[in-house]
Amino acid sequence: MGTIITNGTIVNASEIFKADIQIDEGVITALAAEIKPQSDDKVVDATGQLVFPGAIDPHVHFGVPGYADDFRSGTRAAAVGGITTILNYVEPPTKGMSLLQNLLKWKEMAKESYIDYGLQPIINAEYSERALIELPDLVQEGVCTIKLFMSARGIGLLLSDVEIYKILTKARENHVLATVHCENGDVIDQIVKEILAEGNTSPIYHGYSRPTALEAEATNRVLAIAKVAGAPIRVAHVSCSEAMAEIERAQNNGQKAFGETTPHYLTKDITCLDLPDFEGSKYVCSPPLREKWQQDVLWRGIATGILTTIGSDHAPVPFDGGKTLGRQNFSKIPNGGPGVEELFSIIYHYGVYEKRITLQKFVEVTSTATAKQMGIYPQKGNIGIGSDGDLVIVDPKQRRTISKASQFHKCDYNAYEGTEVQGVITHVLSRGEEIVKNRKIMCSDGRGKYLRRESGLWREEAARASSAG
Ligand code: MN
Ligand code: MN
Repeated sequence: MGTIITNGTIVNASEIFKADIQIDEGVITALAAEIKPQSDDKVVDATGQLVFPGAIDPHVHFGVPGYADDFRSGTRAAAVGGITTILNYVEPPTKGMSLLQNLLKWKEMAKESYIDYGLQPIINAEYSERALIELPDLVQEGVCTIKLFMSARGIGLLLSDVEIYKILTKARENHVLATVHCENGDVIDQIVKEILAEGNTSPIYHGYSRPTALEAEATNRVLAIAKVAGAPIRVAHVSCSEAMAEIERAQNNGQKAFGETTPHYLTKDITCLDLPDFEGSKYVCSPPLREKWQQDVLWRGIATGILTTIGSDHAPVPFDGGKTLGRQNFSKIPNGGPGVEELFSIIYHYGVYEKRITLQKFVEVTSTATAKQMGIYPQKGNIGIGSDGDLVIVDPKQRRTISKASQFHKCDYNAYEGTEVQGVITHVLSRGEEIVKNRKIMCSDGRGKYLRRESGLWREEAARASSAG
């Protein structure tokens, strides 16, 4: 028995066309004007609807102690929101464990997922030397992306320039792509001290303590280090024009540099941090929300290809018992908020419906480019023969209001509460299985598969070299 999607309009990054889709044993086997179903085939009628490749969220934090979502609730929320693949960050190991042992522990935790998943370890200061030796073990296990930090010395994440240089050199040798959190953490820590010494404690000061210049400076610095190390680089959560300009300059100089932004930098601004009754704490994340005019610049960066992917940075810090820890001191507010469930709808509404980007660009930044960078293309990221039957079907005529009352993630608030979006997801398929229908979960947990990944960037390079030679 197979699955057939009839009468939909298929939207790939490369083209838009009308066709039926046949999926057998999880894989797309035919695309044709009219596919006649066999008696035991499941048929999904997509008349008047758009059919997208399943979206891929390359930046989520499920399973982190103190956060509201484990892999079960997190991947349910993702699925309802049109995400069929996640790349989850792996927290650094506890003392004594190897990076591989830690990865295997997270692989075990991730088994309860509803959708397919890959893992990407964070390398902290304590493990920066071990990473140089243990990176090949991670590659063996199907890891091809890692995350590094230039901030957060207080929780042991900040790496020195030398540590970053050494890791990027090893990353290059092992075909691993590093994603970097770019902010000058030490200067920020000093500014925080100064602000607190003046008696300023409310959430808005989180925004003031992390100026755009310090994001741009760290972006510039890591791009220079990556260039010398000969490694491609991915800048996480680009929030401002100043950092984007650094990436653009590197790209223009022929460097393999990629920028990622998030739905919140595209639609929320720093005034959210000033909401009364400590509501502003819900929007405390790093880099912080910026001035509203920055949003237009970021959208232009997506449209012109400087920013190549969008991740939610879903970090579901609860309000009660989480954000409230910082009532007396903004620097004690845990960073991050929920977003995996809303990414697809928010980018579709503000991007496509409000005409900031085209339909094809939407697919590129929510799926295709992401699959390529994360080493899972063409298995994921495209509706084509041989690719997994991961599909999101959207009725562009329906509208819906986002609310905590109907959300699936477990955070006790929704960052987009009350936002009305055009376009409603009617079906989500993962490897041909209808896992969501009209916002109802139709499958059980634990069906998600671990994605062994190998960097597509180097595959591309090898293909170019062999065709040239
Ligand atoms: Mn980060
Ligand atoms: Mn993050």
